[in-house]
Amino acid sequence: MLVQEIIKDIKTPFYLYDFDAIKERFLSIKNSLNGVSSNIFYAVKANSNLSLLKFLKELDSGFDCVSVNEIKRALLIGAKPYKIIFSGVAKSKEDLEFALQEKILYINIENQAELDLLEECAKNLNTVANISIRVNPNVDAKTHPYISTGLKENKFGVSLDVARKMYLKAHKSEYLNPIACHFHIGSNLLDLSPIIQSAKIIKDFVTSLNSAGLNIRFFDIGGGIGVSYLKDEIEPNIKDFFNQIKAMAKDYTICTEPGRYIVANAGYLVTKVLYEKINENKRFVIVDAAMSELIRPSLYNAKHEIICFKDDLANSSKADVVGGVCESGDFLAKDVVLPSLNSQDYLIVKSAGAYGYVMSSNYNSRTKIAEYAIINGKIKLINKAEDFMQMIKGEVECL
Ligand SMILES: *Cc1c(COP(=O)(O)O)cnc(C)c1O
Repeated sequence: MLVQEIIKDIKTPFYLYDFDAIKERFLSIKNSLNGVSSNIFYAVKANSNLSLLKFLKELDSGFDCVSVNEIKRALLIGAKPYKIIFSGVAKSKEDLEFALQEKILYINIENQAELDLLEECAKNLNTVANISIRVNPNVDAKTHPYISTGLKENKFGVSLDVARKMYLKAHKSEYLNPIACHFHIGSNLLDLSPIIQSAKIIKDFVTSLNSAGLNIRFFDIGGGIGVSYLKDEIEPNIKDFFNQIKAMAKDYTICTEPGRYIVANAGYLVTKVLYEKINENKRFVIVDAAMSELIRPSLYNAKHEIICFKDDLANSSKADVVGGVCESGDFLAKDVVLPSLNSQDYLIVKSAGAYGYVMSSNYNSRTKIAEYAIINGKIKLINKAEDFMQMIKGEVECL
């Protein structure tokens, strides 16, 4: 069936995810890891819809969570605690206690004080905390500065020197059990050589720790695999990439935390044209979606391909596709070539499956939009649109 047919009765704007495409992406990573002990922990923050998490769980995915609520999402869809890990720079005492009580596989520690706090929590709960330490290898991921995380000036992780001290301390503690080592140097890397370079550094580091008596078994290379947002962007060959990682880390269980790679290109933001207008020779296509639904263009100057269903491209010209939020920075695309459009024409923003809905906001009192999935050729509602009353509920209760 044509996409137009499938979506024609649905109120725009909305998100649409192709679950078959998600499955294909997940399996391509899984197959690349064939023959070795491995864990894929899907990075929940990229798209945390429960139906999506459940779908991935059924493919045997694990979950990389960066908040207690993400852990709760994973548990809610039936993920086993040993398939969950917990990362993040700012975990509170309550967060750490929650993770300990739920007995997840390991907690990624990001600073010395956090290690001390976790030890105290484990002692109070009379348990042993399985930990990993996020090491910052000081390698440039060469991606957008907002999504680059592996340089020493970034807030994430600790240096090798600090990590060594922390590991040795944890090794001596009866309440801490260092079982993993983790790094994640940035997101959307089209060239994965910085990850390979980091893996070499971390591998030598882990080897030296294990010769000092530790028993680190999980080698966690983080996420960050890039995707093509535009036609001229070439995606990395993940088979080659994982072959290099496998050769390097064959003595360990390899853990990977892909987010964007699994969901980005399987998602679409479907919007309709409201108006066209020309200001000072500049053409604007005004649509019913905005930065409140997809902030990536405004936040990172990210480029998304935009398609329409028009066959007559004769009168095409460049336009900015903008929404109705009161900010000049509110745009979905700039200078894209589009045919002449009418009110009610569809525009589809491609590659919107990752860091799309999860980053949406109520700015301008816009309500969150619905999410749909295409599963086995059928369309299914997987998250209802928020309505006005839901948005103001907490405020009304305080009036
Ligand atoms: C965001 C994040 C990921 C996922 O990154 P992608 O670029 O979406 O693959 C993985 N691990 C950690 C620790 C993260 O913060």
